[in-house]
Amino acid sequence: MPSADPTSSTLADAGAAALDETARRAILDAVDAAFDRQLAFTQELIREPSLRGREAGAQDLMERAMAERGLELDRWQLDPEEIGTHVGAGAVAISYEGMTNVVGSYEPAETLGRSLILNGHVDVVPDGPHEQWARNPWDAHIEDGWLYGRGSGDMKAGLGAMLFAFDAVRAAGFDPAARIHFQSVVEEESTGNGTLAAIQRGYTADAVLIPEPEEDMLVRANVGVIWAKVRVGGTPTHVREMTSGFNAIDAAIAVVAQLRVLEAEWNAERSRHPHFEHLDHPINFNIGQISGGDWPSSVPAWCEFELRAALYPGMTADEAWARILEQLAIAEAALGTADATVTAEKTGFYAEGYVLEEGSDAERLLGETHEAAFGSPLDSFTTPGYIDSRLFVLYEGLPTLVYGPKTEQIHGYDERTSIDSLRRVTKSIALFIAGWCGVTPRG
Ligand SMILES: [Zn+2]
Repeated sequence: MPSADPTSSTLADAGAAALDETARRAILDAVDAAFDRQLAFTQELIREPSLRGREAGAQDLMERAMAERGLELDRWQLDPEEIGTHVGAGAVAISYEGMTNVVGSYEPAETLGRSLILNGHVDVVPDGPHEQWARNPWDAHIEDGWLYGRGSGDMKAGLGAMLFAFDAVRAAGFDPAARIHFQSVVEEESTGNGTLAAIQRGYTADAVLIPEPEEDMLVRANVGVIWAKVRVGGTPTHVREMTSGFNAIDAAIAVVAQLRVLEAEWNAERSRHPHFEHLDHPINFNIGQISGGDWPSSVPAWCEFELRAALYPGMTADEAWARILEQLAIAEAALGTADATVTAEKTGFYAEGYVLEEGSDAERLLGETHEAAFGSPLDSFTTPGYIDSRLFVLYEGLPTLVYGPKTEQIHGYDERTSIDSLRRVTKSIALFIAGWCGVTPRG
């Protein structure tokens, strides 16, 4: 790979240094000049309700946008079997029929600088009860400097920024001098298998940038995540003989309480985990869905709930899973009856967390470009959520910058993205592309 070749990075440094004030200005102005179009494109993307399994329309749009830019296109359906061979794979609990990744590749006439992957996910989480939204979640309306809609921040604003940042470099009269892969992936909100499939397909680069909604900051560390379905089994009877039965819903409540014991134990250990010690509650166990029973007057024989558990970097998913199963066994024993069964199966994320090593060239450059766009230094922070970056960091060893605009209510209602922040982040990314890849005068 070019990263092992010292000449390429020297040349890229020269390319970045060669970016004089006039060139920088031209790139920043080019972002402004196209910003209305960038917003319109982002709105169009938000209006595609790319819920899990329904990403095709949004991917069509991304594919078209990449084709218009003359990128070499690669679109393929995710293959659960191949994905399953990777240690970082999430459990596949749905059909991947029709679920595709789209990658557009830019190839320079002459390679002088370092290559780059710009990665974003097109899948969005469910919109929840519409009556809790001020407007329809798919309207993509703009009000008082905010762009609204499910997926506006997480992360369609970022997907648009990737493409329009690239445009700005070229509109300013330059061609990036290294290969760039633009990746629009699925499955980020459930397994991470989209980005994993792109890695398995052979895509790599000297650095990765993922414009997730990160409050104009750089992600330094994040947790791993496991999804599981926990099933509590009991004995059904008529309620008049309730005491002879076993209520699986009551039991599930007790099982959740036992999981909270483990959650508290892990949170109490936070001082032993660098980058997590200052957080009040870095480990969150969420019961996201629940169902059980068949009838109000029958003692329920079953209850199932969906668990999302977090783990610190440095703990493998296997280790965390073993500990969760151990806790469920404790819960089962505590129910005090042979009628009770507590079982669990993986349903999605099976992911380790990571810490981004400080002081990479990529981070240094982003610090400069952020300062140029925002007029303030780049801060980094720890996020207790999942990000696909773990795949590039843990398994590919690539400097991976997760950095993106200010947002509110992602995964909640009235999700929105700050338009001013998006504009500045786009400028920062445009300067980053030019600085990292180097530039040549547009041929
Ligand atoms: Zn996201």
